[in-house]
Amino acid sequence: MNYNYYSEPLYRPPSEARSLIIQVTEGCSHNKCRFCYMYKSKQFRLKSKEELRGHIEWLKSMYSNPRRIFLADGNVLCLKTEKLIDLLQYVKKEFPHAERISSYSGPLDLIRKTDEELKAIREAGLELLYMGVESGSEKVLSLMNKGVNQQQMIEAGQKAVKAGFKFSCMIISGLGGKEYMEEHALESAKVISAIDPHYFSLLRLVVDEYSELAADVREGKFQLLTPREILEENIIMLENIELTDCIFRSNHVSNHVNLAGTLNQDKEMLVSMLKKLRNSPDFNPRVFNRL
Ligand code: SF4
Repeated sequence: MNYNYYSEPLYRPPSEARSLIIQVTEGCSHNKCRFCYMYKSKQFRLKSKEELRGHIEWLKSMYSNPRRIFLADGNVLCLKTEKLIDLLQYVKKEFPHAERISSYSGPLDLIRKTDEELKAIREAGLELLYMGVESGSEKVLSLMNKGVNQQQMIEAGQKAVKAGFKFSCMIISGLGGKEYMEEHALESAKVISAIDPHYFSLLRLVVDEYSELAADVREGKFQLLTPREILEENIIMLENIELTDCIFRSNHVSNHVNLAGTLNQDKEMLVSMLKKLRNSPDFNPRVFNRL
């Protein structure tokens, strides 16, 4: 069989732009979030050992010495623990100079694994995990059909941090729409503070016409925030967040404003920058929503 391919579309976090991507699974096992269009065209599946080894051979013939490796697609942690450890050992043997291996992590996959299993996976070489929290609000998580509640999100994140992973959380600005703007900001601050991750990033909601949320927007059931309201929401979130030592970024292509700092250390500076922009009559970013 021919394993020399990627099944498209292929996604990775912005910070993995220079990483070699090994496609371990295809799609997302949940695939039901109303705002998400990433894997709608794919049926979720796990690759066989033979297929994975063939895929890695193909990648190795082109990129023999990657510094960083990202395991795709949506939720590689759904693999059985022994299978994942076996894969990590194989990847480390084939790419001995790789300094970091990372992947997305689904909250339910983290909850299903025991603390010992997660520690063993970490020790086998998976170092950095990204988790899309999307919102800390119980209402917004349910509205968006994320498949987990607030407490499960916190539990999943805390387990990953406790097991020794470097942990990165994402929140989507505007995901509560106008109706839940304040609740989304406050509850997201609460969940991120409780997890206390090493990295925290803010993306902005961009509604794709193929997502279920697009129909709600067209029918007026979900009202998108204006750029100024997004700033207001970000201000509330940052003012209420309490983190030990977290690298914060808001530099995705979807964001209206590029922000970077360390939290809590730079909280005042970031909030005052956002307030200045919010109060400026010249703040008028180009909006794209794909609708
Ligand atoms: S947001 Fe994440 S969990 Fe939800 S459908 Fe998309 S990839 Fe799957």
